[in-house]
Amino acid sequence: DGGKFDAKDAAEEVLVVVVLKVLSVVMMIVYGQGLFEGLKAYRREGDSILLFRPEENALRMRMGAERMCMPSPTADQFVEAVKLTVLANKRWVPPQGKGSLYIRPLLMGSGAVLGLAPAPEYTFLIYVSPVGNYFKEGLAPINLVVENEFHRAAPGGTGGIKTIGNYASVLKAQSAAKAKGYSDVLYLDSVQKRYLEEVSSCNVFVVKGKTISTPAIKGTILPGITRKSIIDVARTQGFQVEERLVAVEELLDADEVFCTGTAVVVSPVGSITYLGKRISYGESGVGAVSQQLYSSLTSLQMGLTEDKMGWTMELK
Ligand code: PMP
Repeated sequence: DGGKFDAKDAAEEVLVVVVLKVLSVVMMIVYGQGLFEGLKAYRREGDSILLFRPEENALRMRMGAERMCMPSPTADQFVEAVKLTVLANKRWVPPQGKGSLYIRPLLMGSGAVLGLAPAPEYTFLIYVSPVGNYFKEGLAPINLVVENEFHRAAPGGTGGIKTIGNYASVLKAQSAAKAKGYSDVLYLDSVQKRYLEEVSSCNVFVVKGKTISTPAIKGTILPGITRKSIIDVARTQGFQVEERLVAVEELLDADEVFCTGTAVVVSPVGSITYLGKRISYGESGVGAVSQQLYSSLTSLQMGLTEDKMGWTMELK
């Protein structure tokens, strides 16, 4: 103003900006406008880095943003940001066979709005962390319990997207199951309480002979990228894969059960407890089908086998 500088005014202005920024983030906490993604980068021999289907994560985040009334980066912007972040952190990608770099893109609605309304802006950030192999020495079976009290999602809700609130709501059931010695809970549908949905952070498959069944995507389970990939890999290996309603009683005479997700890739299920009865699978709990699919997918992700599917993206 007239060339004069008033330190007090300037400080107040800075304070207003800071308060608005804080409020921007608070908005997302109050109204739940938050989405995230998870994917991994593997180091390949020869020192290049492989991403696994990052465009699928981009599309899933955009689908989630649409449901949550949030603006979002384009799929190209998303993939470019992931690539740049991984290359800038290349030294943190573990040596081949020792793990991977976990990549977590996060989208938050932001903007200084007080009443209930969609956020006018967004904040997009990515953080990464090196992670070890989920199973240090070969595959280890997990033990699940069918959840009878809580549900993860309801029809018409947000169960089909990777929004923050879904994870907040599963913590209670998951913590109670862990306290009783289970690895995680297996959710049933909330209407008939009879059909399998998914585990807190992975999809579920039931094997019977050469047929592999998995709950169909109908808005209440997350469309996992590993799920989608395993369906294709299993089909190319001669299995019949059915996406349908899978009743909880089918667990009783299944040959094998396994879960899929970015963290676990393919995780064999050693036992499932349903209404107090424990159903065990195989002697070691690691079925041949789970083992075979795990090996196929991990070697593809690490660049150890030829990528006939065109799923890996090489970064140099
Ligand atoms: N279901 C839920 C609820 C999840 O959080 C995840 C992990 N993203 C999955 C399934 C598996 O999805 P993806 O294979 O894409 O990691």
